[in-house]
Amino acid sequence: MLTGHNQKMVPSTPPDTAVSGAETIAAIATPAGAGGIGIIRVSGPLAGPILSQVFRPHRPVSSFASHHMYYGWIVDPGTGSLLDEVLAVFMRAPHTYTREDVTEIHCHGSYLVLEMILALIFRQGARPARAGEFTKRAFLNGRIDLTRAEAVLELLQAKTGPALGLACGQLQGRLHDQVMAVRESLLAVRAVIEVAIDFPEEEGEILDPARMAEQLQQEVIGPITALLADADQGRIFRKGISAVILGRPNVGKSSLLNTLLREERALVTAIPGTTRDTIEEYVNIKGMPVRIIDTAGIRDTSETVEALGVRRARAKLAEADLVLLLLDLSTGLTPEDRQLYANIRENNGDTLLLVVLNKQDLVPDLDPGSFAADFPEEVLVPISAKNGDGIRQLEQAIFTAVAGQDTLPDSGPGCAPNLRHRAALAKALDACQRAAAGLTEGLPPDLLAVDLQATLDHLADIVGETTTEDVLDMIFERFCIGK
Ligand code: GDP
Repeated sequence: MLTGHNQKMVPSTPPDTAVSGAETIAAIATPAGAGGIGIIRVSGPLAGPILSQVFRPHRPVSSFASHHMYYGWIVDPGTGSLLDEVLAVFMRAPHTYTREDVTEIHCHGSYLVLEMILALIFRQGARPARAGEFTKRAFLNGRIDLTRAEAVLELLQAKTGPALGLACGQLQGRLHDQVMAVRESLLAVRAVIEVAIDFPEEEGEILDPARMAEQLQQEVIGPITALLADADQGRIFRKGISAVILGRPNVGKSSLLNTLLREERALVTAIPGTTRDTIEEYVNIKGMPVRIIDTAGIRDTSETVEALGVRRARAKLAEADLVLLLLDLSTGLTPEDRQLYANIRENNGDTLLLVVLNKQDLVPDLDPGSFAADFPEEVLVPISAKNGDGIRQLEQAIFTAVAGQDTLPDSGPGCAPNLRHRAALAKALDACQRAAAGLTEGLPPDLLAVDLQATLDHLADIVGETTTEDVLDMIFERFCIGK
């Protein structure tokens, strides 16, 4: 439920962007292909008239009650021929997805039927909707702010539970409300500065620079810094990370990939060097989408280990967020292993790395801890790719290394600003830090007002109040048609 606070925060529609009276748009809202049902969505002033023209309810009605489902047939008014048996609903503005009049027709899920009905609707005066245009109208008509419009897309694209949780939180306004709370504090500080500008002779009594700088620190700089940290975590769950499996031939790279995938996809062989291609697969590790790259195929028999470590693996290493260095417990540590490890650390000192000790089943009596002396800085995880022992612990170690914590809080990963929000937050932080420093240094109020306004502008950009048309286009073009 919206609180009074939230309602106040919903941006009002600027007159120049209002789209009421706009053209009526229509699209198939369900995916292509045969399905149980397919839905056609129509939005705009003709949504009601078009329904009256193409839909014949089972029991005749003088007008369609809003938000009521009617059973009947789609009829071509030109020929009188019946196209499909459907359920149809008319929803009167403003309580609709777009805040315009909306009609939805639930047909049988044959794409041919859907296309024929859509063509009929176009003949009655609607035009094809562009990608994301329904959601864009919801935004332009002030029903949702830009962060919530973006959340719709993220919800559609989420690959794991936590990513879905993030999208849902954002759709509920979690990011919007935090940005608006920061903005309220800024407006309060700016109001005082404006009074000081208007009454310069009383500036000394009006301004309390130390207290105001502290307020900016607590209520603006602190929360924005926290949101920026959330953005990094959000990226992990939304886009996922990439992990590369490195190790000399035959240590079990393909087997590990397969075990992680729980299916025999990659080529597994006892002959070194016959896995030809780099293999990449997505796995879901505790809600984190992880792209695992098996570099078994990057070995060329004519190449030295140095070449393997430095040249061809470097490209894969550079794009990886995490390296799994795989060793074979049954053979013990070899010069090749040491060389590979040295190469990784020399070239990618900061890369997250786990030392994975494979084939534990072959040497059950060997203490994997005996390898610790060779890797004093690293986390060691003994496993058997063959029988799956230690794989849970490996997944946990991957999660901990990447997320920086063992588990997610019950509430999920919190708020997750995307790259666009992140850029605006960073600029807002910068401007606000200048304002806070200016207060401490005793800058005149009119100069302080400039930095405070810049902070406000960057925050307004996040929720879409000042976002330019080309940025909006870029955002909504990523949606599918019918959304
Ligand atoms: P890669 O060259 O590093 O990709 O190694 P592979 O995954 O092709 O494995 C090489 C050989 O080691 C195959 O015969 C695997 O069955 C075997 N192997 C891999 N992991 C294990 C393990 O944990 N235990 C045992 N006993 N054999 C393994």
